[in-house]
Order: sequence, then C-alpha cells, then structure tokens
Amino acid sequence: MFDSLSNRLTKTFTGLRNRGRINPVDIEETCEEIRVALLEADVAGSVVSLLVEKVRTRSLEQISLDKKGINPGQQIISIVHEELVSILGGSARRLRYAKVAPTVIMLAGLQGSGKTTLAGKLAAYLKSEGNTPVLVACDLQRPNAVDQLQVVGNSVGVPVFAPEPGNGVGDPVKVAKAGIEFAKQKVHNFVIVDTAGRLGVDKELMEQAKNIRDAISPNEVLFVVDAMIGQDAVITAQSFLDGVGFDGIVLTKMDGDARGGAALSIASVTGRPVMFLSTGEKGSEFEPFHPDRMANRILGMGDVATLAEQAKKALDGLDGDSAQKLEAKFVSGEKFTFDDFLEQLQAMKKMGSMSKILGMLPGAQSAAMKKQIAAIDENELTRAEAIIHSMTPTERQEPKIINGSRRARIARGSGTEVFQVNNVLDRFTAAQKAMKQMRNQPGLGGAANLPPAMGGIGAMPAQKVAPPPKRSKSGNPAKRALEGR
Ligand code: GDP
Repeated sequence: MFDSLSNRLTKTFTGLRNRGRINPVDIEETCEEIRVALLEADVAGSVVSLLVEKVRTRSLEQISLDKKGINPGQQIISIVHEELVSILGGSARRLRYAKVAPTVIMLAGLQGSGKTTLAGKLAAYLKSEGNTPVLVACDLQRPNAVDQLQVVGNSVGVPVFAPEPGNGVGDPVKVAKAGIEFAKQKVHNFVIVDTAGRLGVDKELMEQAKNIRDAISPNEVLFVVDAMIGQDAVITAQSFLDGVGFDGIVLTKMDGDARGGAALSIASVTGRPVMFLSTGEKGSEFEPFHPDRMANRILGMGDVATLAEQAKKALDGLDGDSAQKLEAKFVSGEKFTFDDFLEQLQAMKKMGSMSKILGMLPGAQSAAMKKQIAAIDENELTRAEAIIHSMTPTERQEPKIINGSRRARIARGSGTEVFQVNNVLDRFTAAQKAMKQMRNQPGLGGAANLPPAMGGIGAMPAQKVAPPPKRSKSGNPAKRALEGR
C-alpha cells in the first residue's frame, strides 16, 4: 500500500531531517518534490494543490519564527503529516448506531468492487465487537450473488436472509424491507444490506439503489469502491454521491499495486469519510480507517496502533481469554513458554501475511527492513508450528533441555531440517528477550501490546539460511545435530 509514494516522501524527508537550518529555497524544493510524488501516486490535482499550498505557507511561517532547539526539518515533516491527515478526512469516524436497534447499513457500489466480500468482513468485524449482525441478500442481479453471500455468511458464522434466488428473480426493495423485519423479530442489532452493482454507473442502478434506500432509511449508506481503478474511483464516487447519496466510503483492494491516489483524494473530493479498508481476499484483511495512522504509514512511520489492535483481536479470537492470560503473564513476569509462543504464532497466522504485518512497523520502508520483508518465507509460520508440535510437553515448558539429539528428533518429527529447528529456538529466545525488554519499558504504548513472537521476529537477525549440504561424519545423532548448527 502506497509503497512508491512512501519511498519518495521518506527520501525527501531524510535529507530535511538532518538539516540545521532551512531556507525558503529548501521549502520550495521540498514542496515541489511532494507535489510530484503525490501526482505520480495518482492523487487528484486539486487535492495536491491544496495540500502543497498549505504546506508551503505554514512552513515559511514556521521558519520565520526560527524557534531555537527545535529541528526545523522535523517541524516541516509534522506540517506535512497534519495536512495529510486533514485531506484524509481529519479524524476517524465510527459507525453511527440507530437509537432503536437494528442499525441498518446499506452497501452500494459497482459490480466487482468487492461488495459481497466486504459484507462478510464487515459482519465478522461487527460480530467481533459483540454485535449480532444479519446479512440481507438484495443483489438479485449478478449471477450467483445470493449464493456467494450465503457462503460468505456461513464462513463467518453470520446468518443470511435470502428469500429470493436472485439471478434476475425477485424484488430487491421487498427483500430489503422483509430483511429489516426479520432482524427485528430475531433480535439482530445490525442489518447489512448487499445491493446490486453494475459494471458501470447507469440510471437503472442508481434508481434501484435509491428505491432501496428510501424503503429502509439506512443509518449508513456505505459506498464500496475498488481503489485499484485509480482516479475512476473518485469519479464513480462523485456520480454515486449525486445520484444516490452516501455517508461513508469503503476502499477495497488496497493490497493491490495501485498507486493509491484514489484513497488519498476521495474523502477530500466527496466530503465523505473513508471508514473501512479491505486489504486482501481473506476475511481478516479488513480494518477501520484512521486518517492519522494512514498518514503515518505514508510517511514511513509505520502503524503500530493498528498492528496492536489486530494482534489483540487475533489473540482474543483463539480462545476467549488468551489476550488476558498473556497480559497477566506479561505483567507478573511469569515464564514465557513454547505453548505461549505457539498461541502467538497461530494468532499471527490469522492476521494475514507476514510481509503485511512487518510492513506496518516503523521503518518498514528502510532498505534493511525491506530486504528482510522480501526474504520472508510465508510458509515459515506453518513450519514453526509443526516444529513446536513435535516437541514434548516438557520441552515446551523447559526449552533449555532441547539439546542436539532432541533437535534432531524434533526435525525428524516435523519433517524439517535441524537448522530450521535451530531458527525457531533462536526466534523463541529473541521473543523471550523482547518480552523482558517490553516489561522494563512501561512507556512503550501500543508496541507493548504486540505479541512477543512478533517483537521477536522484528528483532530477529536476518534469516539463517541452510548450510551447504555436508555429509555427517558422525554416527551419533546428537553430534550430527550439532554439526547442523
Ligand atoms: P461484488 O461484485 O462487488 O460483490 O464483488 P466481490 O465481493 O464478488 O469481489 C470481486 C472480486 O474481488 C473477488 O474475486 C474478490 O475475491 C476480490 N476482492 C474483494 N475484496 C478484495 C481485496 O480487498 N483485495 C483483493 N486483492 N481482492 C479482493
């Protein structure tokens, strides 16, 4: 997400940060670099001009004050950050709840924008927050849309109200109204209405969406749009706003290699906030949108807050009280064992791909970190799980006893090599260390909520690679295992 934009801005700011003094010419140059970077990222021209003008005026004002002891480059970076937050919509807006349940959310957008997938993700998100949502199948046009919604609902354990088969059969307005009644009867506190999209904006689509909206008066109409279509996303959003009207935006496919400009301009152009992001096809690849966190990511400062929230949710999802158990262990200074490590690896697997997780850490744009991210083997978590499963309960509690022969046995049992077992043991030790360090630094804020397994991976030296195959000279498995180190 925003990789090339983030790279360019990070480069611009690295030079700026190291400067003792900054003059108006430096500011002009910086503004020009920001302007080109944003335009290349496909941000709407009007939005770019607005942002650059504000950065210029405020930066010139700032250097004229010549405040002693404050790094001038840092001040300008803060200004850019604030202005970015502002064009991204200022502060995060949460869903509006109905005064009397159910809260009704209507999803609108073009076909293929990821609406049905999003309906499932939103339902899962609401459920994870303690709500009881129901999905209503009002996309009666697209072939198989009703079946797809049913599959999506099943996969997240949310009921689907689908009285009509779809594929051109049934009246979506009637289904929407009946869906609200169903929710009231069955005491669902959220209703998510999936509506039909077309391949392009057309009158019929707008008319149908308007009719559904008028019939059910939703608390939120969310416009779902594919960020990969670039500036077209902004144009489509504007037509929907004029034709149907909406309250918030959901950007999907933010994982694509899109230049991402749509995401940066859409709130500013439409005056409606971006509320959620979909960042992949998996159910977990979804997050509420926070303008300040997004600005952090764009400026290469990472997004530890989102990471910590996702980690906490993934841990909670494993077993009701995992997060509390871990927190209690963390606070009491109790021993961190391989059983805890395994739980965390499983939680991390639920959070999505490793490169995505590490990409949210501060400094993810640095060359060293990028190299590490590029070297990530996504199967590593599965392998590590197999290795831990091959340990005996005593070994998991007392990893110190895992000597050479035990390592060889674990490798055999998990179908891995001894050096891979060694990697997991090293990683575990690093995680233990990270946990101790975090305990000793109470001011760490969000970072303290990260699973130590993740801290361990962040703190890991570059991945060890397999040693060149060497025929063992020893018949002793323990010795052979040590040779593998
Ligand atoms: P709908 O026609 O608007 O209901 O769109 P779908 O939900 O059927 O999604 C269209 C395609 O986009 C499907 O293949 C989805 O798997 C895919 N998709 C949806 N959201 C995302 C996302 O955030 N990232 C990626 N890469 N693909 C997505």
